[in-house]
Amino acid sequence: MPELPEVETIARGLRDFIIGRRIARVRVGLRKMAVAPQGVSFSRALIGETIRSVDRRGKYVLMQLSSGRALVTSLRMTGRLVFQRTARRPHPYTHVRLDFEDGSRLCFADSRQFGRMRLVEPGQAWDAALGIEPLSEHFTAQRFIGMLSGRRVPVKVFLLNQRRIAGVGNIYACEALWEAGIRPTTRAKALSKPAVRRLHTALIDVLNRAIEMRGTSVDDYVDADGLRGGFQNELSVYGRHGKACARCGKPLVRTVLAQRGTWWCRGCQK
Ligand SMILES: [Zn+2]
Repeated sequence: MPELPEVETIARGLRDFIIGRRIARVRVGLRKMAVAPQGVSFSRALIGETIRSVDRRGKYVLMQLSSGRALVTSLRMTGRLVFQRTARRPHPYTHVRLDFEDGSRLCFADSRQFGRMRLVEPGQAWDAALGIEPLSEHFTAQRFIGMLSGRRVPVKVFLLNQRRIAGVGNIYACEALWEAGIRPTTRAKALSKPAVRRLHTALIDVLNRAIEMRGTSVDDYVDADGLRGGFQNELSVYGRHGKACARCGKPLVRTVLAQRGTWWCRGCQK
């Protein structure tokens, strides 16, 4: 499932490809649920729009349009946004196709069909429920200490809550906790201030390193050019149960916490 670094990589890639391009035609496949508003109004509203900017918020790709509207895409489990320079066969499982005037095209594809593309009117607060951006200057260690204090939930569950911190998912929560030497089940409020500071640093560090490597392709994720990321080769714990911990040598374990697979080291995560 694409998380912050993967969605950031896609947004950066799209920025190079589609800014300034004008939409000439829109094709929505049989699965109308993929778009909002449903029906012809979605397609009609997009025709003639020019892409002004492409950004990321949490795990969403945000395209600002010339009319002031925005197109917000949630990739969910297996969604992809892939740019095609020429009109050839659309990417497999394409549900929405934006054909630009110059013959290039953006495909919104999704094999498992949970992804959504939504048209947002100017000024509409679509992201009110999303938490702080962990790579923004507002996410300070002091702020993080305040956010965790009094919270009874396991720290890993806290990290996954998009209403608290936007964009962190299972891969980077597991990696950051390992990096900080913190047991995933520790209650958030029980963490010492030095531990929270370590986690703060680890989280920012792992997200930045993953962006540098253009994301983690352990499943379907590809960037806007259809290419896989490279951070799957840098993972310390995620998906590595049975392998030796790079820090203490003990075998890594996989347990389940709040219905999510959780990889960690019993030896050095306290
Ligand atoms: Zn270890």
